[in-house]
Amino acid sequence: MDLNTKAVHAGDRKKAPAQIPITTPIHTAASYRCDSVDELDRIFARQEEGYCYARYDNPTNAALEAQVTALENGHGALACASGMAALEIAMRAALVDRRRSILAADALYGATIGLLMNVLEPSGVSVRFADACSLEAMRAAAAETKPGCILVESISNPLLRVPELDKLAELAREIGAALIVDNTFATPLLERPLELGAAFSVHSLTKYLSGHGDVLGGIVVSGPEHYDSLRALSRAYGPVLGPFESYLAMRGIKTFPLRMERQCANACRVAARLAEHPKVERVYFTGDPAHPDAATIRRMFPAGLYGAMVSFEVRGAGRQEIFDFMNRLKMVVPATSLGDVHSMMLYPVMSSHREMSPKARERVGIRDSLVRLSVGIEAAEDIIGDLEQALA
Ligand SMILES: *Cc1c(COP(=O)(O)O)cnc(C)c1O
Repeated sequence: MDLNTKAVHAGDRKKAPAQIPITTPIHTAASYRCDSVDELDRIFARQEEGYCYARYDNPTNAALEAQVTALENGHGALACASGMAALEIAMRAALVDRRRSILAADALYGATIGLLMNVLEPSGVSVRFADACSLEAMRAAAAETKPGCILVESISNPLLRVPELDKLAELAREIGAALIVDNTFATPLLERPLELGAAFSVHSLTKYLSGHGDVLGGIVVSGPEHYDSLRALSRAYGPVLGPFESYLAMRGIKTFPLRMERQCANACRVAARLAEHPKVERVYFTGDPAHPDAATIRRMFPAGLYGAMVSFEVRGAGRQEIFDFMNRLKMVVPATSLGDVHSMMLYPVMSSHREMSPKARERVGIRDSLVRLSVGIEAAEDIIGDLEQALA
């Protein structure tokens, strides 16, 4: 089935198991009653499929998990309370039977760097960063640190670099590491990391998949090798998504391919117009033929779909000029997050890269004049019009 069809049908209308929830759907029931205690015993032992307790699984979550598993062509999924919880449990599952060492891309979502440095490292996991778009750099760092896990993003934030996931999967396989891809920015419409050899594909459901700015959630999709570890960890510490959020996410996902296509098309038009604007110094966009990873993008993404994030530098602008520019926006929402139906703009210096010193930011190419735009589903001309009036 095509991804568009799966988005609408996968997960729904599965024959329900016979256990009856002790309260009523949206499946908020914490526990399930079985016909006999013998049956409950078999479910506890996982000899028989079925529900017994909401930390283990729940029909609403199971439907969402089946839906996203289908989109990613995975083996199974775990819906989590946030994208960060999803990333954390994916890394723990990857390291269950591997060296407690992670090789991570040096350009990552800000909170992910925090998770690595402030949560995983203090718990005894060693962390090394390298340039995920340089296979040589990754190979050299891997040879030194012998990681059990490699963590990258399919499109990096906010400079939108695109690593070669298939080659990184090959490297991971060679050294016995598990590759985790945060696929939030590319989405399964552009790239399906498990098909390319990754062990896990992780999403912040909060972004494109749910798409309406009304859900906080995350999901880990895995291949067969790690699925049992993932569920065992989740049973043990329960970072699971609530059923109401699961329902909202599933409803959002039915239109995700349509939204994403429109957002990608809008992003192409917005990026082209910004590139011509005299007040714009530089545009970062994955559809730009001069993008540093253009060859990878041509090879990996479907024709005409480049993602819907556009970052750009406003000529000569410092912090105050960017604040003034963002305050002049009338439709584009100046707020954190991305992937929603509405266009949103974020200032990395103020948000995701706030904790970094100006010097460190300069080193990774995040200037005071840089803003990040998540292009929505509005009419492209209205988005461009708002940006132009605010730049003027
Ligand atoms: C938002 C985001 C996360 C974190 O997800 P939450 O749902 O906010 O916890 C992780 N990675 C990327 C790339 C994101 O955009």
